[in-house]
Formats: sequence, structure tokens, C-alpha cells
Amino acid sequence: MHKNQPSIQPKLERLLDLALACVAMLMLSPVWLTNLLMSVWHHKLPLVMTVQQDVLGREQRIYQWQRGFFPTSAALLNVASGSLSLFGVSLNSGFGSIARVDLHDLKAGLYSIAEIQQRIGLIGLSVEQSMLHHQAQRSIGLYLNYILKGLFCSLLYRTTDLRAPASFTLFGIRIDNFRMAQAVDLICADTPDTPDTGSPDGLSGRPCKVVNFINVNSINLAYSNRAFKNALNRANCTLADGSGVRLGARSMQVQLKDNINGTDLMPMLCAELVARKLSLYLFGSAPGVAQKAADALKASHPGLIIAGVQHGRLTELDNDQVVAAINASQADVCLVALGSPVQEHWIMANRTRLEVRTAIAVGGLFDFLSGNIPRAPLWMRELGLEWVFRLIQEPRVKFTRYVIGNPLFLWRAFVLKKSQADS
Ligand code: UDP
Repeated sequence: MHKNQPSIQPKLERLLDLALACVAMLMLSPVWLTNLLMSVWHHKLPLVMTVQQDVLGREQRIYQWQRGFFPTSAALLNVASGSLSLFGVSLNSGFGSIARVDLHDLKAGLYSIAEIQQRIGLIGLSVEQSMLHHQAQRSIGLYLNYILKGLFCSLLYRTTDLRAPASFTLFGIRIDNFRMAQAVDLICADTPDTPDTGSPDGLSGRPCKVVNFINVNSINLAYSNRAFKNALNRANCTLADGSGVRLGARSMQVQLKDNINGTDLMPMLCAELVARKLSLYLFGSAPGVAQKAADALKASHPGLIIAGVQHGRLTELDNDQVVAAINASQADVCLVALGSPVQEHWIMANRTRLEVRTAIAVGGLFDFLSGNIPRAPLWMRELGLEWVFRLIQEPRVKFTRYVIGNPLFLWRAFVLKKSQADS
């Protein structure tokens, strides 16, 4: 048992498992009765024990029906008897095996916690990290969270046979299927822009690298805006942000490797900037917000160099002066928070003059970092429901984006595309 682990948690989890297993068995009882009769008919024992290894290398003996439907559903008997938990250590050998004796108080689970985290795209946790997180944070709330996520996964992310290509195209927009660390490497690297994404505007300067986040809103905006689509496709890297794009990727049989939104990327990016002694410039948002965001970043990342900040009220600014100030600061990475599609166009229009390694379009990031707009709680983000939280915060401003935009996106991704493919 974990040192500070109150013993009540496993007991509560066990009670919850028992209750849920009983409900499931009750619902399955007609099927199980049929299985029983079929076994008798074929002169077979109804149940057999199969032996499987969990990822901690432990042997698990699991019930299975010999005849009939849903043979593996008999494992609910293991859950009811307490030898398996409903959510726990993975039985999936595809995850390899982990040699950690200190995790042995965690039971193997009918559903794998690590697999659920991966399917839902939770911020780059390895199987081992998922288990350690579960052990350290163990609570009935967390367990309920897994149940909710498990249901959510099976309803929304059920597709099998997914591939994970390096990049793919969704509604004509190239999306790079990067892991968080890959994105951070590209942002920090001192490599020049690649020729195919270079400036077609004939300017002689070496264009800085451009990184964009693609969410449902940017896809909707680009759907009927060719100039914006072109701007997005000329970036060096476009990162998938949010559960909507994850679903859109699924409609193309693509599994996203990570969910990389600006807020989740920042801790890893800042750590790397500190390690390499590179500096950051924050351009955008209402007056005062970029400075507050910079202060928050400096507090959470000691040693981080903030080269400068500038608010983003474009009508009050002289563009040449903004570019000159960014260059004079000798910043290595510039975050641009002007909202879509303004920020992506701004970066494209100025990339040959900006002397930074990379410019990143970050939307409302400074509002979150500064604490001006609170972020959704982790459980909502994990379930892909951050947009609900933002809609509640600013119902009038976000109404069109979410209430009209989200169903429109899903309709285009799943109905329109399918009917076009069928015809
Ligand atoms: N903004 C700005 N100048 C403008 C318009 C917007 O600096 O002329 C800022 C605004 O204050 C906010 C961010 O751009 O901080 C847009 O946030 P939003 O979440 O709407 O970004 P999106 O998701 O549209 O990219």
C-alpha cells in the first residue's frame, strides 16, 4: 500500500466495482442464460479459466464462457469476486511490461486506466505514469472519473484499426500528428524554415518557423475562407487541439498521438526554453494581460527569460514598431495571441521580418495564463468538455463558435464526408 494511502479508497472502489458488476450481470442475464443452455446442449462446462498476464507481469486467471455470446463478459464474475477491478492495471500485452513492485497493490482491471488515458488523448502520460498517477492520487472521485471516461471512450472513440501517420489532411488542412516533445523540439530548434513553406511574397529575409494550433473553430473558419486555409497550410507545423479535432481525425481513421493545446504545451516548452537559455516574447491580448501572463510564467518557471511583452490592440499599434520591438528584444520564440484568423495572417504577413526562431499563434492563451479567464477543471478537459466551460463563461461571445460551430463541424466530418464518399 502507498505510504499515505488511506485504506478506505480500495474498499470504496471495491464496493463500486461490485455494484456496477451486479448491474452489468443483471443486464446480461438473458445472454448468460442462453450461454449456459448452449453449454449444457454441447455437453461442455459453461465457464473456463483463461490465464493472462497484466503489464506488471502478474498472472491473472479470468473466467470466459465456453459457448454462446460475449464470451469475455464472464470476467464480470472476477470483478464481483474481487480478483479483478473494473478499472486498473492493463491486461493488454501490447503495452509491453513494466517492472515495478511498488505498483503491486493495484489490481489488474477489466478496463485499462492507461488505455483510457491514451484514447482520450491525455497529455502524454506513459502507461507507467498513468499507474503512478492513479496510485498517488487514488480517490473515489478519480475512480468515478475513470468510469465516466471509460463510458465516454466507448461511446465516442470506439473505432478500431486506426493508424497514426506523421501528418494527415482534414478539410484541406494539413495537421501534423506530433507528440508534445516533438513540437517543443521544433519550436526551440535553430533550424531555418524549410523551402516549401518559405515566403512566396518574394521578400528576402529568412522566414521564421510558424506553429499553429488547429481546433474546430479554425477548421470552420478555414472551410469557406481559402486565404485562411492557405495561411494555415504554409505553417511549418499545425498541431491538433481539442476533442473535436480528435473526433475529426477519427473520421479519417487517424489516431492522434497527443492532444497539444497551448496551455498544456507551455510547461514543457518553458522548461526547454530555460534549459537552452532561450527567451520568450508575448504579443497580444488586452493591455496588461500579456504582462500578467509573463509574470505567471516566470513564477512557475524560475530562470525563464521574458524578452518583452506587447498588448494586441492592433488599431492602436504601428505594425512596423511592433516588429521592430520584437526584433530589438532578441527573443527566440514569439507567442502571438490575437485570435483566429487574425493571428495566423499576422504571422504569415510578418514572418520574413521577424528575427525569432519560431512564432506561435496561441489564441486566448494569455487570458488563461494570467488567470483572467479560469480554465476548466481537469476532469472536464479530459472528457473533451472544455468548450462547455468556456460557453458558460462567455455565453454570448462563444454561442456561434460552439453551439453552431461544433454540430456543424461534426455534421461535415461524419455525415457530409461519408455521403460524399458513398456517392
Ligand atoms: N485579441 C487581441 N487583439 C485583437 C483581437 C483579439 O489581442 O484585435 C486577443 C483577445 O484579447 C484574446 C485573444 O486575442 O486574448 C483571442 O482569444 P480567443 O480565445 O478568442 O482566441 P481564438 O480561439 O479565437 O484563437
